[in-house]
Amino acid sequence: MKYNFKTKQFSEIETAPKKLAIAGSDRDIDWDTLKTKTEQLVKVFNEIGIPNGHPVIIYGHKEYLFPLAILACIHSNTTYIPIDKIYPIDRIKKIIEKTGSQILINCSEETLDINIAITINSSFNTTVNFIPDYSNKIYGIPEDPLQYIMFTSGSTGEPKGVQITQNSILTFLNWAQKDFGFCSDDVFMNQAPFTFDVSLCDVLNSFSHGGTLVLNSTNIVKDQEAFFKRLVNYKCSVWTSTPSFAYLFLRHPDFNAEKIYTIKTFLFMGEELPNRTCSILKKSFNDVRILNAYGPTEATIVTTLVEITDDVISKYPMLPIGFPMPASKIVIEKLDPNDKEGELIIVGEHVSIGYFKNDELNKQKFFLHEGKRAFKTGDLAYYENEMVFCIGRNDDQVKMHGFRIELNEISNVLCKNDLISDAVTIALKRNNEVKKIVSFVIVKEPIQKEELNQHLVAFLNTTLPYYMIPGDLVTVGSFPYSTSHKIDKNKLIEDYLKQQFNN
Ligand code: AMP
Repeated sequence: MKYNFKTKQFSEIETAPKKLAIAGSDRDIDWDTLKTKTEQLVKVFNEIGIPNGHPVIIYGHKEYLFPLAILACIHSNTTYIPIDKIYPIDRIKKIIEKTGSQILINCSEETLDINIAITINSSFNTTVNFIPDYSNKIYGIPEDPLQYIMFTSGSTGEPKGVQITQNSILTFLNWAQKDFGFCSDDVFMNQAPFTFDVSLCDVLNSFSHGGTLVLNSTNIVKDQEAFFKRLVNYKCSVWTSTPSFAYLFLRHPDFNAEKIYTIKTFLFMGEELPNRTCSILKKSFNDVRILNAYGPTEATIVTTLVEITDDVISKYPMLPIGFPMPASKIVIEKLDPNDKEGELIIVGEHVSIGYFKNDELNKQKFFLHEGKRAFKTGDLAYYENEMVFCIGRNDDQVKMHGFRIELNEISNVLCKNDLISDAVTIALKRNNEVKKIVSFVIVKEPIQKEELNQHLVAFLNTTLPYYMIPGDLVTVGSFPYSTSHKIDKNKLIEDYLKQQFNN
């Protein structure tokens, strides 16, 4: 059995209904159960009367129900917002307040301290806290309904919601089904939180091919040997992750083709894929296929793809991000026609219709190119041998351990604290890789460093996910300024490193 995302039907129902569809962190279900339970959940949606275009929150981590709920939303034209447990409750409340969502599917067994009209629990029982109010809370357009809103770090201090429509998903899937080289025998290792579309890639690939999706919670992954055993037991053949996630295992003596003999493909996305990571992988998994895919959340999962062969590894110290998907176009917008590189612009139907209720930013980042939706990525890139190479960013967005972070979001949240009058956040990099995030703050009143740190970390933890908490908080009397009247970040880093060295 598999799922046809175009016709919105389970197809080939008679084939292998007992084949494993999802191995969750809590429970395994076969394709027959996936179909029955998806239809049951859609029935619950109908009973509640969720209007088309009203966003439903899906909350949880790696329970079998999370991808099932995503499928039920897709199956029933229901817009969803995925929220992983890594988000602090205040961030979730902000998202609910901003979108006006009245319904939450709780895939976990946790009780949430959230004031929302209706909760659907993991047994599909509903609790009505108050009568839902859908007025002015129905979004998207009937011609191409909104499928999901994915919240990502926003420079203003608030997360921003990327809106993706059904046609965008189909555009991505048309390409992925043909060019990624997966089939119904594939078993997909899924680990990234569902708040990131790296995770959605496995869900769509697995369901559309009729494969198996193996979900791995943070706890499962922490125990590396148990995680490896799980990969072999479930015969995982496709490993999808950020390069940073794979890096955690590279030096483990069992991370090789002898021990984890089921893996056939490593599909990387979400951040720069270092050449040395591929060289090590090729040595430990000699027959494996390595794919590098690139794309921001704003353009439905990924837009370019390339296989990293031995030739590519030896020819390009900085690996290419690959060839654009045929239904898209990548334009390099150069400041000067003689420049080699410029800003990478993505054009195509898979480009988001814009950030949720954020006209100002939408005007800056989204536009029409030859009548098609286009997004200014902020990535700097160039073409060589028909492939795109990405060399960095033109703004303050960084990736740390594969997580997307707007440094200004951290500074803006710090400035909301009563003790702080100003803040600036900088990423310390080595070989283009972010090693540490440091926030420099100016305090309103003198305060002991220890006390300030404790207070600020506790404060940040209430609104920011753990991966956005700076590695260090440094008090300064004032910020140095460059001749162009901008904060001199280089000087701040220089002074910080000197101080670290002296200590
Ligand atoms: P996200 O929206 O979290 O997927 O982050 C998108 C950003 O991550 C892109 O705009 C790039 O800056 C970076 N990125 C994603 N994939 C790659 C890749 N394969 N190589 C280099 N950078 C990447």
